[in-house]
Amino acid sequence: MIPVSEPDIGEKEIEYVDDAVRSGWVSSHGEYINRFEDNFKSFIGTKFGLTTSNGTTALHLALSAMGIKEGDEVIVPDLTFISPVNAVLYNHATPVLCDIDPENWCIDAEKIEKLITEKTKAIIVVHLYGNSANMDRLMEIKEKYNLYLIEDTAESLGTEYKGKKLGSFGDAGCFSFYGNKTMTTGEGGFCTTNNEEIYRMMLLLRDHGMRPENRYWHDYIGYNYRMTNLQAALGVAQLERLNSFIEKKRHIASEYKKNLPGNVLPHPEGKLYKGTYWLYSILAKDKDERERLISFLFGKGIDTRKFFYPVHVMPPYKEFNKVNYPNSTSISERGINLPSSVKLSDDEIGYICDCIKSFYKL
Ligand SMILES: *Cc1c(COP(=O)(O)O)cnc(C)c1O
Repeated sequence: MIPVSEPDIGEKEIEYVDDAVRSGWVSSHGEYINRFEDNFKSFIGTKFGLTTSNGTTALHLALSAMGIKEGDEVIVPDLTFISPVNAVLYNHATPVLCDIDPENWCIDAEKIEKLITEKTKAIIVVHLYGNSANMDRLMEIKEKYNLYLIEDTAESLGTEYKGKKLGSFGDAGCFSFYGNKTMTTGEGGFCTTNNEEIYRMMLLLRDHGMRPENRYWHDYIGYNYRMTNLQAALGVAQLERLNSFIEKKRHIASEYKKNLPGNVLPHPEGKLYKGTYWLYSILAKDKDERERLISFLFGKGIDTRKFFYPVHVMPPYKEFNKVNYPNSTSISERGINLPSSVKLSDDEIGYICDCIKSFYKL
């Protein structure tokens, strides 16, 4: 099977992890943690940054550091991996689901204002599949209503909006280094921010809410959301190769674009942003065609993935189904993620596109 995504672990990764293990610094202190935090925040271009145990805890930490609590409302997109919605619920706040923009598959900035109430405290923008939301509009809304803006950048590591990396616009950027993401630390995550107060609070809450200068004195109910030095060693090595991974993702997108038949709707290309195509994706005409294409490709040894389900249809979140979500519903049932691993060859992409052509009998 040609997989949708697989990590590329090289000799450098093995060397750094080996070094970290031998150093004895196997928990969450050590040279690689410091290096990884410095290098990653520089890559994104923020003043502050800290590692976390995964992308979901990064989101929970950011919301907690901003004091999001019961009674608060947080606007989130209806088409997303579930983490940002759950992170809102972990703090007993209310997720307010917003439809997406068919131009970029991210939260539709034009539909946000109608959802804002006096309880609204924050917006979480999820940059889906390497794309970017309309950041100019989101920053405008953030300023106008004095809201926090959190960027879930787990799927758009390296994507640039008007020349600036995503994860550096809002009050916090949250990243994931799960095994299928653009770079991996096995499990792991990261928070970027330019706000020193939020950064200090995230540091405290990541480490049990414990005062750094007075150990075992707790001012807050914190968490253990730390990354280990072993994971950070993997991260330092992957980060050194990240630009080549991003280049490869963009190359894969251009190969798909060149070879796909004209009747499939291709992955959107931003006018204002330079995408990183975490998973190159297409839209079928309707749900039935999507299901048939997926099983056809499976029969040809090609693995694919369906888009996320709209949040508002699933049992734990039905109570948050408050408005209409026409774009998220339609795109969710038509979307297919194609193989996009950095190890994919041009020949494999050609083969996948030939199979799609033969499905449409072209
Ligand atoms: C992967 C992902 C996450 C969660 O990351 P984990 O590290 O698996 O917890 C959050 N948001 C989005 C959009 C993701 O794709």
